[in-house]
Amino acid sequence: ILAVSVAGCGSGTGRGGADSDTADSGDNSGALVGIAMPTKTSERWIKDGDSIQASLEDLGYETTLEYADDDIPTQVQQVSNMITKGAKVLVVAAIDGTALSDQLDNAAAAGIKVIAYDRLITGNENVDYYTTFDNYTVGVQQATSLLTGLGVLDADGKETGATEPKNIELFAGSPDDNNANFFYDGAMDTLQPYIDKGTLTVKSGQTAFTQIATLRWDPATAQKRMQNLIASTYSGGEKVDGVLSPYDGISLGIISALTGSGYAPDALPVITGQDAEAASVKSIMDNQQYSTIFKDTRALGEQTVEMVDDVLKGEEPEVNDTETYDNKVKIVPTYLLDPIVVTKDNYKELLVDSGYYEASDLQ
Ligand code: BGC
Repeated sequence: ILAVSVAGCGSGTGRGGADSDTADSGDNSGALVGIAMPTKTSERWIKDGDSIQASLEDLGYETTLEYADDDIPTQVQQVSNMITKGAKVLVVAAIDGTALSDQLDNAAAAGIKVIAYDRLITGNENVDYYTTFDNYTVGVQQATSLLTGLGVLDADGKETGATEPKNIELFAGSPDDNNANFFYDGAMDTLQPYIDKGTLTVKSGQTAFTQIATLRWDPATAQKRMQNLIASTYSGGEKVDGVLSPYDGISLGIISALTGSGYAPDALPVITGQDAEAASVKSIMDNQQYSTIFKDTRALGEQTVEMVDDVLKGEEPEVNDTETYDNKVKIVPTYLLDPIVVTKDNYKELLVDSGYYEASDLQ
């Protein structure tokens, strides 16, 4: 009996054990992981959620996956419920990066680890890790492809010498999403020299982040703003030559505004995007949208799942950036992945041959 109970103590790292109720102690096999995603209106988050959930379940973890319809109180409630249900790790793609502070404090008090997924959670110290794509680079890539599409740069990123002035308009993402600032900064650092020397003109004069931001990344909001820009700034017959768009849904809204205002579908401005969503890839194949940014959600999901697994096994997860992502309280250790520009020239190789889409998804 003694031997049995000693053995019992020795392996006493089971889920009921005294020191087993935090993420980094005890046996966490089969532990619950909460996955909070912002919305299903954009296909990327569905791919993200599905891929994280499937990989965690393959490793034997339990999961709870929630989408919040882009509604902040809903997401707050969902994360609270995950804590109550006993999740050991939370993977959170926040709607508003500042809105989850109470939940993060509660999570920390319960020994739950928090991984900010794709979007940084700000203003709270209890964000343990961050996995994302290099967000500044996304902005640089969007602006560079705008310049390429306008003929200012060639395919290798070299100046072509073209000096004929081009009219552009700028759109940015949601002001409550930390990423939106990085996209904007990367894009503006790239475009500003051409604005300064007159190669590019932002005819509306709207270049400040607050003037061009799109709350909740909403396509209808972007469509309305584009309609207003056409009416207010281009009524004299001048054309828009290029539009910096930070996200494919916004690009679709911009295209609707343009075609609705008389732009022929085959004579649209150069329009960028992000996420390689099927509708926008089709639009690129049809020569309407010019480019998008591919962020392979499978890779981000895998990286995140490895991190979760390491945390639950009490191991130190791999990070590759410990200086960029200051959440206003601390610098959050981050694993960054590389985004890639997609155009008509490479979409097949990147998106179909890699199995991200079936050819039939793009028909
Ligand atoms: C993501 C982008 C996405 C945008 C809108 C951002 O936080 O990084 O990939 O386009 O949200 O969903």
